[in-house]
Amino acid sequence: MTAQAITTNGRASEIVSINPATLEELARFHIATTAEVNAAVARARAAQPKWGALSFRNRARYILKLQRELYDRQQEIISIISDETGKPAFEALTAEVFPACDLMSHFAANAERILRDERFTLAVFRNKRSMISYEPLGVVGIISPWNFPFSIPMGGIVMALVAGNAVVFKPSEYTPLVGDAIKRLFASAGFPEGVLEVVQGNGSTGGALVDSAVDKIFFTGSVRTGKKIAESAAKRLLPAVLELGGKDPMIVLEDAPFERTVKGAVWGAFMNCGQVCASVERLYVTEPIAERFIAAVVDGVMKLRIGAPAGCSTDVGPLTNENQLNVVSDHVADAVAKGARVLTGGRRREDLGGYFFEPTVLVDVNSSMKVMTEETFGPVLPIKIVKDEEEAISEANSTRYGLLASVWTSDNERGRRIARRIEAGTVVINDALYTHGAAQTPWFGVKESGLGVTHGSQGLFEFVRMKHVNWDLLPMKSDWWWFPYTERWQNRFKTLMKLLYRWKLRKIA
Ligand code: NAD
Repeated sequence: MTAQAITTNGRASEIVSINPATLEELARFHIATTAEVNAAVARARAAQPKWGALSFRNRARYILKLQRELYDRQQEIISIISDETGKPAFEALTAEVFPACDLMSHFAANAERILRDERFTLAVFRNKRSMISYEPLGVVGIISPWNFPFSIPMGGIVMALVAGNAVVFKPSEYTPLVGDAIKRLFASAGFPEGVLEVVQGNGSTGGALVDSAVDKIFFTGSVRTGKKIAESAAKRLLPAVLELGGKDPMIVLEDAPFERTVKGAVWGAFMNCGQVCASVERLYVTEPIAERFIAAVVDGVMKLRIGAPAGCSTDVGPLTNENQLNVVSDHVADAVAKGARVLTGGRRREDLGGYFFEPTVLVDVNSSMKVMTEETFGPVLPIKIVKDEEEAISEANSTRYGLLASVWTSDNERGRRIARRIEAGTVVINDALYTHGAAQTPWFGVKESGLGVTHGSQGLFEFVRMKHVNWDLLPMKSDWWWFPYTERWQNRFKTLMKLLYRWKLRKIA
């Protein structure tokens, strides 16, 4: 089953929402055309000036109304997320609804402080004063993936709105129902018309949004699509934040807190069925504890309850779509063909009806295998034994990605020292992937994992345009460096240079 219904002329006209645990059809949505995308951007453009002119306090009031709406309707939202993605209801609460509430609270309370004007006097030209202010960009386009179809776009939308922008949001073609739920939440929270527009569709709809009159694109998704968007955006110097994929390493050192590390590895690799940009995708364990550690991890994985995502009796649901199931099957088959050993799992569970794949642990893995070099984005944990810390760091960095990494040790100082040497946007010590959705901590990738920041104060600055205004404290007839140029002023400048810099420069050997 695919997410798109194809018409007789070969073009997709509808997206079909499918429950990945049962393969039942949940809903169909019309794919917005380029004209419809442009019309949505025009409506957002018309609504933005009034919205942007509201005080921070008034915009925050809307965000808090939205939060109350979400709080009151959390069960309904959790069910929609769980039905459409296959993730356990527990995860729909903890990793989708809760982080969205956290984000709303944080930015409603802090956006004004973070984005307040800054004033300063220039160190050398004491008569000059500057002000930095932050203005909304206008209309921003948000394109999101299916793995966290609620918390990821909500984060971007809320940050864009508190900063005074209007938004056009395109949900993933695999999770249109969640996108529609977001639209309905905003409507019932009473947001002004046009401030949030939702356009449903596939890659072509996303492409139309990138090519539309938006002022910035916030994209979360694969490296492949991210590069296409960067190319289109570059044609008109459209700024873009790109939050892309990862191949995140977990380094387990001999002094790791054993029980926590075992549980962390199992959760970090199999939460959301491994479909997290920050999932543990490669695990490096040092020799002294390797055997005991691997046995304990396998034991933990074998206890995971796989099944339909209802109630609290399931730990791991199905993959969200058939495409992802095929990638996972391919990576496992490729690894096995090249000599990897399956310690548990390793096969599709057709008997369960949906896109289920058993949580899988692989050993004897190497860098010739896709499972160690390409993003698997599924319930597979490849473990490699390394000699020591040095080898672990070198393996961790041997990738084109750089999103998240984790270091497990009882010595925080050692953890921080190693963290400095790891090429990743975020390094967590003795934890896995949890800062991914947090409101206060910045989230970003290095290398091919992306450009720009989301979340944290740093992320909020992505939604504004900086303006610098400079003026004189005391009006003067002319500045020293204006016309006419004279010997006298040249000498004064030379004296100034001497006073300011000569002494300092003499100290340099
Ligand atoms: P994807 O790149 O296939 O699609 C993401 C979105 O882009 C979808 O809405 C899709 O319709 C749209 N799209 C597709 N082609 C487009 C085009 N040419 N122009 C504009 N938009 C287009 O990614 P996916 O499969 O939905 O998501 C999984 C990927 O997202 C993984 O690689 C994962 O690591 C990554 N991800 C990254 C983060 C992060 O914060 N860094 C978070 C979640 C997921």
